[in-house]
Amino acid sequence: MSTNAISKIVIVGGGTAGWMSAAPLALKLGSACEIVLLESPEIGTVGVGEATLPTIRAFNQALGLDGADFVKKTQATFKLGIEFKDWGHIGNRFFHGFGDFGPAIEYRSPVQYWLRLARANKDMPSYEEWSTATAMARSNRFVPPYGDQPAVTNAYSYAFHFDASLYAAYLRDHAVQRGVRRIEGTVTEVEQHPESGFITALKLQDGRRIEGDLFIDCSGFRGLLIEGVYKAGYDDWSAMLPCNSAQAVPCEKVEPLTPYTVSTARSAGWTWRIPLQHRTGNGHVYCNGFTSDEEAARVLLQGLDGAALDAPRQLRFTTGRRRKAWIKNCVAIGLSSGFLEPLESTSINIIENSIGWLLQYLPDRDFSPALADEFNRLVAQRYEFVRDFIVLHYKVTNRTDSEFWRYCASMQIPDSLQHQIDLFWETGRVVVYDPDGFSVASHVSIMMGLGVVPKRYDPLIDRMDLQRLQEHFSRVRETIGRAVAAMPTHDAFIGQIA
Ligand SMILES: Cc1cc2nc3c(=O)[nH]c(=O)nc-3n(C[C@H](O)[C@H](O)[C@H](O)COP(=O)(O)OP(=O)(O)OC[C@H]3O[C@@H](n4cnc5c(N)ncnc54)[C@H](O)[C@@H]3O)c2cc1C
Repeated sequence: MSTNAISKIVIVGGGTAGWMSAAPLALKLGSACEIVLLESPEIGTVGVGEATLPTIRAFNQALGLDGADFVKKTQATFKLGIEFKDWGHIGNRFFHGFGDFGPAIEYRSPVQYWLRLARANKDMPSYEEWSTATAMARSNRFVPPYGDQPAVTNAYSYAFHFDASLYAAYLRDHAVQRGVRRIEGTVTEVEQHPESGFITALKLQDGRRIEGDLFIDCSGFRGLLIEGVYKAGYDDWSAMLPCNSAQAVPCEKVEPLTPYTVSTARSAGWTWRIPLQHRTGNGHVYCNGFTSDEEAARVLLQGLDGAALDAPRQLRFTTGRRRKAWIKNCVAIGLSSGFLEPLESTSINIIENSIGWLLQYLPDRDFSPALADEFNRLVAQRYEFVRDFIVLHYKVTNRTDSEFWRYCASMQIPDSLQHQIDLFWETGRVVVYDPDGFSVASHVSIMMGLGVVPKRYDPLIDRMDLQRLQEHFSRVRETIGRAVAAMPTHDAFIGQIA
């Protein structure tokens, strides 16, 4: 390390974001850099955040976590995607699985071919039958994809559901073993350099003073440093994502353990169901302008499939993002940098991305503003891409049965999203704005699931023989069916490894 290298990093916050930041920093920087994590004994963590995207596997692997040990210690289950209920209309049910609808043909999305077959044959089974992840989820089977499986049955991915507090504790042990120093204390004052405005030290309630070179703000919604000190500002997206409240409650687990999250649309929002080994996590995300907290609790409790283990916990939020996540020597990661409702489990994914980008653009003591600019550009883009994908779920639904849904149907949406919807509606094609974000198949899942059927498909597909195409699709469907039937149940697989 050069003499100009950062020698001390202070992380404020011991929630998921704090420990997800501490563990990789400790691994990458080793003893060359002192890392301190401060957590307040008085201010709790948000304590939710239990469903993830497949990228969490790469994050865990990069840390060298043992897969089976992780599943055991965090009470994790496997997640093949999300089942959406009542979103397109009441009674509508579709699955957003991790993976495509069968293999691509000549680099074209299989759904393009399905559209042609469905037009020629009114009895064509649903495109979902070509999704291996969906077939597995519907029959509660799970096994990770492995190399020598036929390509058709390998075309899926998976993520985890886990207990958020156990995951933070697991990463804490990992980080502390690698030299991260954990300090309990509440930050009450922030010292800044009188000329540069850089943060020089944090003062704790008990008088202790913690100096540092780089400060990572993982203090949750409050954004203690990024907003409290630097007044970063916040882009409020509530006009297109009106939900501003949530209630969360665990309940007793029921068998079998399902390898997917369930999201059920309600009259002023939606509820989640996340199965864990030891309990089921449930929550209701809603807009308190369209329903009361009492009614939201009633809907949540009525929908539980096991006995409630606690009273519902109330949370409030404003959807949006900090205008800048990195200012001077302060980088915000986690809820301090922004919040999008957990409909597609994206917050932990944005934490993974943010810590990856911080390591990629790690500053030295000169803190070149160009590094902050690039980090801010990447974080801003990711929030906007995810925002559009979540707004899509609300915008193209056919539900008009409540004031909330009527509002969603008529609300203004970003031009980028309108273009996405128009392109799909007119031609069946999808814009890939973010190659590292939600795939073509994910967009197809949501739009077709909600009832958007494209008017046209790719004209080049008409050049393929219809009979051969039909036979190919039948073969793929049978192969998926056979492969899934031979897989262990999700419970059995967890039993084997955990
Ligand atoms: C209803 C809901 C459901 C969600 N579901 C999902 C999901 O399924 N999937 C997903 O990916 N994400 C989800 N999220 C988001 C996820 O919970 C968060 O991204 C994640 O928990 C990170 O939170 P955090 O660590 O940033 O903040 P917090 O958990 O709030 O932690 C803040 C930390 O800062 C410390 N702190 C605060 N002030 C001070 C101070 N003055 N001095 C010292 N320490 C201080 C606190 O003690 C605490 O340790 C959900 C969020 C909500 C609200």
